[in-house]
Amino acid sequence: MTIQSLEDTHELDVYPRRDVVLVRGNGSTVYDENGKAYIDCASNIGVSLIGHGNRSVAKALYNQYLRLSNCYSIFYNDARARFAQKLVSIAPKGLDRVFFCNSGTEAVEAAIKFARATTGKDRYQMICAIRGFHGKTMGSLAATWDPKYREPFLPMLQGFTHIPFNNIEKLRESINEHTSAVLLEVVQGEGGIRVGDKTFFSEARKLCDDHNILLIIDEVQTGFGRTGTMFACEQYVTPDILCVAKAIAGGVPMGAVLCNEKIHVPKRSHTSTFGGNPLACAAALATIEFIENEQLPAKAATLGRYLREKLEAISSPRIKEVRGLGLMIGIELHEKADPYVKSLMEKGIIVLLAGPNVIRLLPPLIITKKEIDIIIQSLREVLC
Ligand code: PLP
Repeated sequence: MTIQSLEDTHELDVYPRRDVVLVRGNGSTVYDENGKAYIDCASNIGVSLIGHGNRSVAKALYNQYLRLSNCYSIFYNDARARFAQKLVSIAPKGLDRVFFCNSGTEAVEAAIKFARATTGKDRYQMICAIRGFHGKTMGSLAATWDPKYREPFLPMLQGFTHIPFNNIEKLRESINEHTSAVLLEVVQGEGGIRVGDKTFFSEARKLCDDHNILLIIDEVQTGFGRTGTMFACEQYVTPDILCVAKAIAGGVPMGAVLCNEKIHVPKRSHTSTFGGNPLACAAALATIEFIENEQLPAKAATLGRYLREKLEAISSPRIKEVRGLGLMIGIELHEKADPYVKSLMEKGIIVLLAGPNVIRLLPPLIITKKEIDIIIQSLREVLC
């Protein structure tokens, strides 16, 4: 039996699979079972931000596993304490307490609960954005906009409103006495790489302050340097709650919710068996140190600018718009992008979709200029 048929036989059919078996990775390259190399311009939707096979993360994991792999958070733990201190030290000022979980959707679930617990029973409304994506468990799914994800699971959790992204008037109109929080991405990832407007975000921050509403920013995809700063919100506003996951632990599952002093959550009301386990914390500490030592946010800014400029210079009637921030780039086409994703795959480049017409580029931040040039050339060949 092939690997494909084993997976097809034994797993639920919920992923739109590509017919390739990836078996190993090194740096910005992944390899299939036949040894074919691919430049990874997807990073597992942003997870593999430091690339594949990072030695310092591997060493941290190995050592921590032998020392203590799990430690439920009713006990204190040295690896968790050290990582909590590190995460808070790199977070925007004021976000100085953290809750650990295991994924992006869990971080958003926790943020929704923390907001409700803080603002009280009568304030259950969450204002989110059209094309926003926050995960697929029942709470975060209510915040996610795309009806095709929501409809099979109706009825949704009550109280979620979706306004057009970057539209301050619609945000103002949606606020009422029941509003608990505004929940936004700074750059919409799944929604098509749509970059937030700076004026919108600063006015949204002000509206939240004026109405005593919490601002939650979801940086599950944008966090840890992807957009040119450690957190994208540094270029915008400081939220009351910041959700992170994906790249945080170098490929080991982890999520976190950073909160400011406004947030109050009753003891025992939200917990997680695996949240803050020493193994993930050790990997995360090594990952953040690597990101800092290699100055990956600055690299994302420089290489991202270079890549965007080169893409904008491609003269193709198929391209409608190139947009993005740092190394998070979308190429919107006038037509469906899927055939081009397949052609790029044949050329040894893995890219993602972000909606039907958008090619999404999320390379590891360790990618070299030489590899970026290969990606540009391949895109030119398939799109022109
Ligand atoms: N929030 C954002 C902005 C995301 O991009 C994603 C996943 O792509 C999620 C939340 C959900 O994360 P996870 O798939 O780890 O649950």
